[in-house]
Amino acid sequence: MQCRLVSVCVNPESDCFLNMVQTSSYIDVAVALPIFGTFTYRVPENLQDVASVGKRVLVPFGRRRVTGYILGPGKSCDLKEIKCVQAVLDCRPLFPASLIPFFNWISAYYLHPIGEVIKSALPSGLNLYEYSAFRITEKGEHALQDEASGDVEREVLACLRTGSVRLKDIGRILQKNIPEAIITDLEKKGWVVQKNELREARTKPRMERFVSLQNPDVSLKDVSEGRQKIIATLLSGREVPVKNLKALVPNAAGLIRSMQQAGYVQTRYRQVFRDPFGESILPDEAPTLTDEQLKVVTTILASLERGFSTYLLAGVTGSGKTEVYLQLAEATLTKGYSALVLVPEIVLISQMERSFRSRFGQRIAVLHSDLSPGERYDQWIRILNHEASIVIGARSAIFAPLDNVGLIVVDEEHDTSYKQESGLRYNARDLAVVRAKEFGCVAVLGSATPSIQSAYNADTKKFIELTLKDRVEKQPLPEIRIVDLGENRDVRGVRRFITPELHNAMKVTLERHEQVLLFLNRRGFAGLPVCSACGAVIRCKNCDISMTLHRQANAYKCHYCGFSRAFSLTCDACGSDKIKLLGLGTEKVEAAVQTLFPEARVARMDRDTTARRGSMVTLLKGLRNRTIDVLVGTQMIAKGHDFPNITLVGIICADLSLSFPDFRAGERTFQLLAQVAGRAGRGKIPGQVVLQTYNPKHFSILAAKDQDSKRFYAREIDFRKMLNYPPFSRIIQLRIAGKHKDRTVQVAKELGAACSALHKGSKIFYRNLEVLGPIPAPLARIAREHRWQILIKGKRVGTLHRFIRQLMQDRGELFNQRKVKVQIDVDPFFMM
Ligand code: ADP
Ligand code: ZN
Ligand code: ZN
Repeated sequence: MQCRLVSVCVNPESDCFLNMVQTSSYIDVAVALPIFGTFTYRVPENLQDVASVGKRVLVPFGRRRVTGYILGPGKSCDLKEIKCVQAVLDCRPLFPASLIPFFNWISAYYLHPIGEVIKSALPSGLNLYEYSAFRITEKGEHALQDEASGDVEREVLACLRTGSVRLKDIGRILQKNIPEAIITDLEKKGWVVQKNELREARTKPRMERFVSLQNPDVSLKDVSEGRQKIIATLLSGREVPVKNLKALVPNAAGLIRSMQQAGYVQTRYRQVFRDPFGESILPDEAPTLTDEQLKVVTTILASLERGFSTYLLAGVTGSGKTEVYLQLAEATLTKGYSALVLVPEIVLISQMERSFRSRFGQRIAVLHSDLSPGERYDQWIRILNHEASIVIGARSAIFAPLDNVGLIVVDEEHDTSYKQESGLRYNARDLAVVRAKEFGCVAVLGSATPSIQSAYNADTKKFIELTLKDRVEKQPLPEIRIVDLGENRDVRGVRRFITPELHNAMKVTLERHEQVLLFLNRRGFAGLPVCSACGAVIRCKNCDISMTLHRQANAYKCHYCGFSRAFSLTCDACGSDKIKLLGLGTEKVEAAVQTLFPEARVARMDRDTTARRGSMVTLLKGLRNRTIDVLVGTQMIAKGHDFPNITLVGIICADLSLSFPDFRAGERTFQLLAQVAGRAGRGKIPGQVVLQTYNPKHFSILAAKDQDSKRFYAREIDFRKMLNYPPFSRIIQLRIAGKHKDRTVQVAKELGAACSALHKGSKIFYRNLEVLGPIPAPLARIAREHRWQILIKGKRVGTLHRFIRQLMQDRGELFNQRKVKVQIDVDPFFMM
C-alpha cells in the first residue's frame, strides 16, 4: 500500500502526546461526511507519534480525500482493506477525549452522522488555519530554466520559487488573472505540488498603559498644576490608566514621560477588559445574598461533587439569578472544576460577561457567533489549555472543550434560541442536562418563566425545583392592566393601536422623566400591503407570504427569504394605485409615538436597527444614559435587560404569536409577555404595564398579567395531556423541501407511504406511534422551496429513533435525493 505524506506536523509541546494512541497503529476515524459510523485507518510509522485523539486527519475516502477526526484506537476488522492516514492536520487536539461519549450520544439522539456532529461542535473558523498552497518541485525548477515552457507557466513557477503560495494569492502577486486550469496542469506535469499548510493566528489581548507612583513622598510644591493633578490622582495608591489621566490633564502623556525619567512615577502595560459599552470593568465584590438566594446557593452547593443532578431555578424577573450563578461558579472553581454558562442572546452574553469579568477577571472565555473566526479559535485554544475555567456563551458553547466541568448553567432556559434550526438541529438546553449527566456534574436551568418541559420535569421529580419569589430589594412586580383592543376596532389612525390608556400612561411617565418601553413583536412598517380595489396582497415571489413595507429602506421586504422590491402603491394585479398599508410593525409604532409626543426622544430596537455591529450597544447605552425616552422594539427588548429607570412597558398587541399553528403558541406568548413586563420597575420606582390585546380572556394573557408561571403551567399541562403533545409524547419531524414542486410532493408522498407501511407492518413495535402527514407545511413555500412535513409522535423516544433508523435503512434513497432534501428534526420547535 502506498502512503503519500502530505504534511507532518510535529508538536514540540508535550500536551500533544496526552491522548496519544499507543496501543495500535490503527485509529478510529469519524469523517466529516453525511455517513453514519466510523472507519479504521492505518497510521504510517512517521505519524504515529502525532496521531492523537481529538486531532484532525486527512484520509482517503472513496475517490476523494476528506477530513476526519481521531476518536481512538482502531476497531478490529479486515486489515487488508484498511487505508492509510495521509496527514495529521493539527498540532494539538481540538477536543478532549472525554467529550467523545457526548458526541456519540448526540449522533444517536439527533440521528446525525458523528463526523458532522463533531464538525458542528468545533469553532467554524478552524479551516482558516489550514490552507492548501503550491510549491515548486525540482522538475519545476528545470522547467523554469527551459525556454520552451510557456510564458505564463514560467511566471507562475517564478512566483512559487520564493516559498509556497496559495492559489488565490498567485494571481494577486502576479497582478493578473491566473486560471485554475493552468495550476492544475502544472501539478499534472509534476512541476508544482500542493501542500496543506497550517497557520495559527492569534488575536492579541487588549493592552493598556497604567501609571503608578514610584515614590509616595513626592512633594506637591514647586510643580506645575498639571503634574499636581496627576500626582494627586496617583496618591490613592492605585494604578491609573494613562487614558484616564489624559482626560484630566490634556498633556498628561508628556508630563508622565518626564516624571518617569525623573523617577517619580512608573508605567507598565496591563491586559484590560471592556464591557460592551467600551468602559473598563472594575473588580467588584460579592454582595450579601438575600435569604432566598442564600438558600438556593447552599442547596446547590451541597450537591456539587455528588454526581449528576439538575436544578430548575424559577426566580421572578429581577430576583438576582445572576448573583446565584456567580457564587455557584466561584465555589465550583474553588473545588478545582470548571463552569459553563449558557446565555441565549449575544447582548445578554455581554451583560453576563461583564458580571463574570468583574468577579473572575481573566479566567473567562467567551464563545459566540459575533466573534471573528480568529477570536473564536483563540478562545477555544485558551479553554483547551486550561487558561480559562469559566466559559460563557451562546448555544454552541455547549460543546466547549472543557474536560472537568463541575457546573453547567443555562440562563433563560425557556428561550427558543437554544434550539439550532439548521444542520445539526440540537437543543443546547437539553444537551446541558445530557452533558451534566455524562460528566456527573450539576446543571442549573434558570428562568422567570420556565418552559413547560422543564416545569414538567420538576413536577415529575427529574429536576429539583428551587424558587426565588421576591425581587432583590423586594421591589413589587409591576402592575399590569389589560386593555381590550376589540373596543377600539372603529377608531382610525394611531389611536387604534395606542389606546387612550396607553397614551395617558406614557404622558405621565414622560413628564416624570422616566423611560418607556413599547413592545411589538413584528418589525417593519406594515405587514399586509393590500389593494383596496381588487383585494390582492403584495406577496413575495419566492414565498407564500405577504411582504412587509419597510419605510426606512423604502422597500417591501420578505421576512423569510430576504427578497426585497421597491416601494410603490400600484397594484400588480389591477394596476390601480390603491394599495393600503395594513398591518402593524415597529416602524409604524415609532412614527406614531413621534407624532403623539414630538418632544420625546424615540428609538427603535429590532433586527433592522441592530444589524450593524455595535449598534445594539449604542441603543443600550442610550437607555442607560437616558438619552432615549421611548424605546420601541421586538422581542429583543424582552430579554434579560436590567434598566432601573424604565417604569412603563406598553405591549402594543399581545396576540401576534397566539394564532400560530403550533402547540407551543400559548407557552411562547405567556413567556414573552411575562418577560417583557418584567423589564418594568426594576429600580426604586414601581413599574406598570399596559397590555393591549384582542383576547383579554385568553389564559396565556391572564397568566402573564399575574406573572404566574404556576397557574399557566397548571392549565397548559392539561391541554398538552389531552391532546397528547410533549411533554406527554415525543415528536420527530421529517421536513421535505425542494425547488421542484412535483418532485417534492412525490418524495413526501413516498416517504409518507413508507412510514405508514412500516407503522402498520410492525404492529407490536410501533403500536403506540402516530404518523401524521405528509401535509404541506403551514408556510408551504419559503425561498422558492416547497415544504412538506411528516410528524411522528410516540410515547418513547427510543421507539421513534428505531422507527426512523429503520426507515433510513429500508428507504435510504429517499433521504439522499439530490433535488429534494429530507431533514430530521428530533424534538422540533419551529413547526411551521
Ligand atoms: P434576574 O436575572 O433574576 O432578573 P438580576 O440578576 O438581573 O435578576 O438581578 C437584578 C439586580 O439585583 C441586579 O442589578 C443585581 O446586581 C442586583 N442584585 C442581585 N443580587 C443582589 C444582592 N444579594 N444584593 C444586592 N443587589 C443584588
Ligand atoms: Zn388591485
Ligand atoms: Zn420570501
